[in-house]
Amino acid sequence: YEIAELKRLDVAHHLPAQQDYKLIEDMGGSRIVTHAEGCYIHDGDGNRILDGMAGLWCVNVGYGRDELVEVAAEQMRELPFYNTFFKTVTPPTVLLAQKIAQHTGGKLQHVFFNASGSEANDTVFRMVRHYWKLKGEPKRTVFISRWNAYHGSTVAGVSLGGMKAMHAQGDLPVPGVEHVRQPYWFGEGFGQDPVQFGKDCAAAIEERILAVGPENVAAFIGEPVQGAGGVIIPPPGYWQEVEAICRKYGILLVADEVICGFGRTGQWFGHQTYGFTPDLVPMAKGLSSGYLPISATAVSSDIVEVLKTGGDFVHGFTYSGHPVAAAVALANIGIIEREGLVERTREDTGPYLARALTRLLAHELVGEVRSIGLLGAVEIVSKKGTNQRWLGAEGNAGPVVRDLCIKNGLMVRGIRDTIVMCPPLIISHQQIDDMVDIIGKSLDEALPVLRA
Ligand code: PLP
Repeated sequence: YEIAELKRLDVAHHLPAQQDYKLIEDMGGSRIVTHAEGCYIHDGDGNRILDGMAGLWCVNVGYGRDELVEVAAEQMRELPFYNTFFKTVTPPTVLLAQKIAQHTGGKLQHVFFNASGSEANDTVFRMVRHYWKLKGEPKRTVFISRWNAYHGSTVAGVSLGGMKAMHAQGDLPVPGVEHVRQPYWFGEGFGQDPVQFGKDCAAAIEERILAVGPENVAAFIGEPVQGAGGVIIPPPGYWQEVEAICRKYGILLVADEVICGFGRTGQWFGHQTYGFTPDLVPMAKGLSSGYLPISATAVSSDIVEVLKTGGDFVHGFTYSGHPVAAAVALANIGIIEREGLVERTREDTGPYLARALTRLLAHELVGEVRSIGLLGAVEIVSKKGTNQRWLGAEGNAGPVVRDLCIKNGLMVRGIRDTIVMCPPLIISHQQIDDMVDIIGKSLDEALPVLRA
């Protein structure tokens, strides 16, 4: 193929995810990513780009893992597909369920499979409401979530999420979803004591529960660290407060681990990093490091005991427990275990990233840097020492800096006024330094652009 021809065809026929189609047309088509190895992607214009986003928060073991290719090929030869609808299951699916249960631990001993993070949350949505009906509390239908949360792009995912632009385009959320404030200290609690701010944000959940009536509330859902919202790291103590509130009112607690799972925050799961115990855990992305689409919803034994009283749970997808995806996920988890990537993130590369990011603090555009494990963010401000933004409340300095980072050889995301990063867990110290240096250089280059 010719790259120029692919770009033309992209404009002519392909509708990419979360894009302004007119903009893509004006650009003459999307960047064509052709191949990748380790922590680098390559595009059709000959650029080699350090992947500071691990694809889309997912390629935890890095690119070019022949082992996963072999496992997929072997499983495709053996059995490319079978379903789990007919009282049937395939060997990799069962073994993966056991492996996930081993890492979620405690009461999270059961796993329902889906193909995407959004579907994992759809499963949460339906399973939780079904559970409460079986429990004899059918009024418990309301989900409490947070503004600026991201739980996916399906109807349930968008409804549970707190992205106002997504709500607006689909006339969502569906009835029965309530949104409360997010624990975003730099954006919304600046100048306040962070611990008190976290308490106030948790208190907002309790206030909403009381307003809705505790007898009507089914579950609270949150990402341990809000990813697509801008890598929003909660203040210390926030999750303990949230957990206590959920327990006080008998409300289920859902930790959306689609980004935080599989080592990202320095433990297997983000709820382990923050020391709380959810009842349901949707996960995806790092489960297969993105090599194939697969997601899972881990469920507590208490919930499953109740589901057992209800006959068929009429929910499932053709690709629930897909054997090839399950085999690859199992091998991917094997790599994470064998190479100690969770421990390495916690003890070595995570702290290294945190130290490296502090070099940016002197920059006049930088208001805050933060990270947990290999999940990081840089806040861009218009006035040093404040949280003032460049272009109004919504701002958009992030995309300006992001585009410069990409030009300078680093893929990051710009979310409003925040640059976020989420590199493969195999990243080296040198590559972390390169990542931070490129952000620094791009911030320098952004100054005249933003001032213009
Ligand atoms: N939940 C979280 C926390 C996510 O970050 C995402 C995707 O980024 C999703 C759910 C949706 O996953 P998917 O895009 O695989 O449907």
